[in-house]
Amino acid sequence: MPGTLSLPGFVNAHSHTFQRALRGAAGGDDFWSWREKMLAEAERQTPALVRETYERTYREMRAAGYTAVGEFHYLGLPEAHAAREAAVAAGVELILLHVAYARGGLPRFRQESVADYLAEVEELRGAGLRIGVAPHSVRATPVGWLEEIARYADREGLPLHVHADEQPREIEECLSEHGCRPIELLARSGCLGERTTVVHATHADGGELDLLASSGTTICACPTTEADLGDGFLPAERIRRRSIPLCVGSDSNVRIDPFEELRELEGIARRQTGRRGVFSTDELLEFGSERGAVALGLGDWPRIEIDLGHPSLAGVASDDVPAALVAGCAADVVVRTAPGARVGPGCAGPGSAAADPGPIDAGRPPT
Ligand SMILES: [Zn+2]
Repeated sequence: MPGTLSLPGFVNAHSHTFQRALRGAAGGDDFWSWREKMLAEAERQTPALVRETYERTYREMRAAGYTAVGEFHYLGLPEAHAAREAAVAAGVELILLHVAYARGGLPRFRQESVADYLAEVEELRGAGLRIGVAPHSVRATPVGWLEEIARYADREGLPLHVHADEQPREIEECLSEHGCRPIELLARSGCLGERTTVVHATHADGGELDLLASSGTTICACPTTEADLGDGFLPAERIRRRSIPLCVGSDSNVRIDPFEELRELEGIARRQTGRRGVFSTDELLEFGSERGAVALGLGDWPRIEIDLGHPSLAGVASDDVPAALVAGCAADVVVRTAPGARVGPGCAGPGSAAADPGPIDAGRPPT
């Protein structure tokens, strides 16, 4: 009888969980018209809605093998607490990446000042949430905010996550306002470094990639969302050549399947290079788990078990199973979160203990 294979749980380093509601429903010609639908969905969020829908989606993530999630959160403080409750109920480790938003977007996203933003961060940390700081983008946060948030993250040893270079228009706006590209502005503002993750970097040029490499900054790729939104192709081979750390996120949650994110990442690299095996299987699985944990400052997180009797793995030699998972399996090969088995040494700190909600039961209503 085939048994199970234990793997480190996948780490979803970038999620906007409320956007799950838009799958299939949000049309539009490009990213910017999609964004209008997204803003309308954000506007209707309440703590009760977040509590209900985030638990459902976090259970989907857990069933798909994600045992930790970085929630890039800009919906407000009561909704942040609701997200934490949802994660605990679903049995997923949550790092709340609390977003600083100075301009644009919706009024509910914004703080009056960077001091107000940092006061929110302190309040959430005081309530026991595990927090990363997250200036939304160079579009939404001015240089003074970026500098102040970078200093705070350094002083407190916190992860810093920021969107950059997802869309050409964002780069053009940055060039006209600041005379430099977004990742150059992040470098000037002190935002790059080993605790920093730049989300997307889809249109980063060579100079920007060099800045990420020399500073030890991580890139979080979100391939299924980047495909859905028509963002473009991650410069995967140029990132690999510079040994820039990579992790993955489900972002808009149009799909919740870590194998698909990794397969798409390698597929982009193959199309760009005309070669196979640009990233090794071990590297891809590390992007999906350990690298995401490092990006979130996560010390330990649950392992998962793969069903070796799944039809997708029938006839696959045991040595080939890891490669077959990336090449040809979907998330339904994940049979469960391994009870009590965790990755990484030590304790993950306050607020880390997610309840064990029992067997994976995605799709069923919470009881
Ligand atoms: Zn995002």
